[in-house]
Amino acid sequence: KRAKLRSQGAGEAITKDGVRIHISGNIEFPDEAEHCVELGADGIGLYRTEFLYMESNAHRTEEEHFQAYCQVVRTMGERPVVIRTLDLGADKVPGMMKDVFSDATNPELGLRSIRVCLADLKLFRTQLRAILRAAVEGDVRIMFPLVASLTELRQARMLLRDVVEDLEDQGIPFRRDVPVGMMVEVPSAAIRAEEFAREVDFFSIGTNDLIQYTLAADRSDPAVAKYYNTADPAILKLIRMVVTAAADARIPVTVCGQMSSDIKFVPLLIGMGLRHLSVTPQAVPVLKDLVRNMTIGQAEEIAKRVADFEIARDIESYLRGELKKLS
Ligand code: PEP
Ligand code: MG
Repeated sequence: KRAKLRSQGAGEAITKDGVRIHISGNIEFPDEAEHCVELGADGIGLYRTEFLYMESNAHRTEEEHFQAYCQVVRTMGERPVVIRTLDLGADKVPGMMKDVFSDATNPELGLRSIRVCLADLKLFRTQLRAILRAAVEGDVRIMFPLVASLTELRQARMLLRDVVEDLEDQGIPFRRDVPVGMMVEVPSAAIRAEEFAREVDFFSIGTNDLIQYTLAADRSDPAVAKYYNTADPAILKLIRMVVTAAADARIPVTVCGQMSSDIKFVPLLIGMGLRHLSVTPQAVPVLKDLVRNMTIGQAEEIAKRVADFEIARDIESYLRGELKKLS
């Protein structure tokens, strides 16, 4: 089975009518990068760096960040590596930060992710320095999570400029032209995608949080699992808005949430215009195989037909049927 996956993963994923679809891997730990290469990932589309903190009870030094990033970048060679800045808080609280977060009545809406970094500039700077330094080794890109307003994005970018100046003053080797992107995972960011697109180099849609915040259903609470519907027309509408804004601004857009690892949604996403997906590593070869067996025309037809349905359940069963026809 391993050999089959490896052969499916090899080479580019091109549809029958000649369109390249980039399929990257999502990782949490540096040693997973090797697995991504083995399975044929076109890059790392999402490196969840907060896991550096989840496995330890201490703050991490700039050197520890740097070493972790270098390992990933070197493993990936020429392929792009999107390093997401710390997404701590909510379901990801390391032991040593327990008291900072313990009082929140609603952690998912509380101090988390980029808000934590903007509240703790020392923490943020340490990470940004390490990313810029590791960028000398390969094709590194920076991504900010949970951006909800232009203000946060601009604050983060300002800090990044500051860090660039510091590294320059100190004569430390780094790359200054690292592309800067953001996750679109809060409804406000999707709604204002047009404005955000003018200020970033790329978008990555985080469907896990986008669904949770749009449908007001906790992503990890089984009691509301039936309200957490990936195929809800509201979610599809937001994704369309983001894809359109990205196309108008000529910036790339990826889907890196769980949705793109679920094979039945892939023809729909491609039909909606997505050309970049970032998925759990095991899904890479399977999705490449699917892409090679379909046309953009088929995918666009599926995306068009989906608009005829009013509820998530009907959309899902339609997509399941279409997937059977494709594979
Ligand atoms: C998401 O929200 O879809 C996402 C990719 O980020 P995470 O799952 O790490 O919150
Ligand atoms: Mg998220």
